[in-house]
Amino acid sequence: AKRKGPGQRAVFSSAMHDSAKNFMRTAAALRRALERDELVVHYQPMVELRTGTIRGAEALVRWNHPTRGLIAPQEFIPIAEDTGIIVPLGRFVLRRACEQFHALKARTTNGKPFTMSVNLAGAQLGRPNFVNEVEQILAETGVPAGSLKLEITETAAMQNPEAAIEMLERLRKLGVTIAIDDFGTGYSSLSQLHRFPIDTLKIDRSFVSRMASGNDNIEIVRTVVTLGHVLGLNIIAEGVEAAEQISMLDDLQCEYGQGYFFSQPVPFEKFGR
Ligand code: C2E
Ligand code: CA
Ligand code: CA
Ligand code: CA
Repeated sequence: AKRKGPGQRAVFSSAMHDSAKNFMRTAAALRRALERDELVVHYQPMVELRTGTIRGAEALVRWNHPTRGLIAPQEFIPIAEDTGIIVPLGRFVLRRACEQFHALKARTTNGKPFTMSVNLAGAQLGRPNFVNEVEQILAETGVPAGSLKLEITETAAMQNPEAAIEMLERLRKLGVTIAIDDFGTGYSSLSQLHRFPIDTLKIDRSFVSRMASGNDNIEIVRTVVTLGHVLGLNIIAEGVEAAEQISMLDDLQCEYGQGYFFSQPVPFEKFGR
């Protein structure tokens, strides 16, 4: 950096430089966190709305930081995506969720099917070896392929639609099911949807939370549910926070819901207890 007079900051110590430094520091800390086993997976129940019974769980990662405590994924997933750390991180979450599948299922579904949903980043879809990794994890943990659902956002799927379609087809050949996450927040995808080999639509929380406030919001949800059913898909409503939403969603024949009304994401030990 250039030398300046006393008390003056060099050009290099700009806000941009600070944030780049912060980024690098967080990336390094995140790599160490993976090695030191500081990442934990919490689970949020997926509930059948008609009966109120638990039919599955979504795995959601947190960083159990030694000094800062639990850190939410929004604070580190974007950095993990930009640095490629998302690849080993995502593999860790998938493995842990599959390892804990049997116990979570046994606690909640009375022997009936239980679906474990795991979030997938765009970068993971781009890796040629990904399908083999999934196959191996399923074999090692004894999770039936049909009990694993991989969630991908429209935005991630649209980054490279051709590659995504091919990868999703290979995953479905294994028997794994695919959900489009945060549906409705991307754009132009309604017309593209039929091209994607998917099983489930997750309606974004923003639509579900606005549903009760009248206007056109309930019609948007109705349209998504109808379209999904025409395409033979299951529908999961995200962010269900009130009983009123459940009866509206049930009237629209939306099958499943997740949200704070049922439960926040909880540690493995607390799920179903
Ligand atoms: P997402 O996949 O859309 O997950 C749902 C988020 O909504 C979760 O936040 C969950 O705690 C929150 N949520 C659930 N029900 C309610 C509700 O009723 N009200 C409100 N206000 N919020 C609710 P979380 O756990 O902080 O995760 C945020 C995002 O981080 C996830 O959004 C997902 O995009 C990403 N993420 C989390 N874990 C992973 C992972 O293992 N891999 C990848 N690639 N992304 C992950
Ligand atoms: Ca998700
Ligand atoms: Ca979502
Ligand atoms: Ca969402």
